[in-house]
Amino acid sequence: MSFASQAREEIARRSTVKACCVRAVCYGIACFAKYFDTKGLVLQTEQQHTAQYAQQMFACCGVEGTVVEKQRPSGILYEFSIREPEQVERMHALFGTTGNETSIQIDPALLRCRGCLSGYIGAAFLCSGTVTDPQKEYNLEFLTPRTNLARDFEALLAEHEFAPRRTRRRAVNVIYIKTSDQVEALLAFMGAEEAAAQIQRQKAVKSVRNRVNRHTNCETANLSKMAKANAQTLLAIRYLQQENALDSLPEPLRQAAAKRLEYPDLSLSALCGCFEPALSKSGLSNRMKKLEAAAAQLKQKREEACNEGDCTEQPAHRG
Ligand SMILES: [Zn+2]
Repeated sequence: MSFASQAREEIARRSTVKACCVRAVCYGIACFAKYFDTKGLVLQTEQQHTAQYAQQMFACCGVEGTVVEKQRPSGILYEFSIREPEQVERMHALFGTTGNETSIQIDPALLRCRGCLSGYIGAAFLCSGTVTDPQKEYNLEFLTPRTNLARDFEALLAEHEFAPRRTRRRAVNVIYIKTSDQVEALLAFMGAEEAAAQIQRQKAVKSVRNRVNRHTNCETANLSKMAKANAQTLLAIRYLQQENALDSLPEPLRQAAAKRLEYPDLSLSALCGCFEPALSKSGLSNRMKKLEAAAAQLKQKREEACNEGDCTEQPAHRG
């Protein structure tokens, strides 16, 4: 089942109790239905539960409508309609409309409480809305060819802490919201709690993933810093070893050099644990610095000796 279908099913399943709210749901269905005029009401939908929900809600208000299935090349279409003159009359009496209005505009008197508002917006979503799978993008939209209704609906959402935008797409008005927080909040407000929770979970996963990425980047940077420091110490120790200078060093320095040669890849703190008893990091760092200094000193001495012509180094090949 698609994310949008799941959200619609949730909205159609919720229970609406108060009379004012049930009427608001019916009013939402009427405003966003295909036809709503003197001849009655026609709602066409691909979801059976939406058609049944419309029938139930109107029945609660004493207005009888029928649901029929229509086979279309694209699939089954469910049509809920109110066409019996007596029922049509009751429906218009319910909303205080005649069906002769030149355009549909939202009558605020029919939205009395927060439940009314939630029911009305939920009904609009069932009849004309859709929501994109949050794994792809955050987008929730309502479509209607009725421009005045679109304007009123945008204002209604804006009045209640949502920040909708409106545009036109092929002669149809689109009212949409695009941020994750808003999509999540509006789904919850319409009664699609589980769909809203799914967005919340997904956002949590994304934020953990971002944090892990940031952490990994930091660690990589630290690792390369550590590798650089290790390499420097290792070079110094190997030079001392090559020059047979290690044995003449004090015991603690010899030990440190031996451990570093044994575990060239360990971090300094990890290397501390290889001593018995374990050394402090500053203690070991100090020894490594002394080793590097000893190597540098030896190198300098050798170079000076060379310059004075007292070079003991022999050419690699003789004769
Ligand atoms: Zn209400």
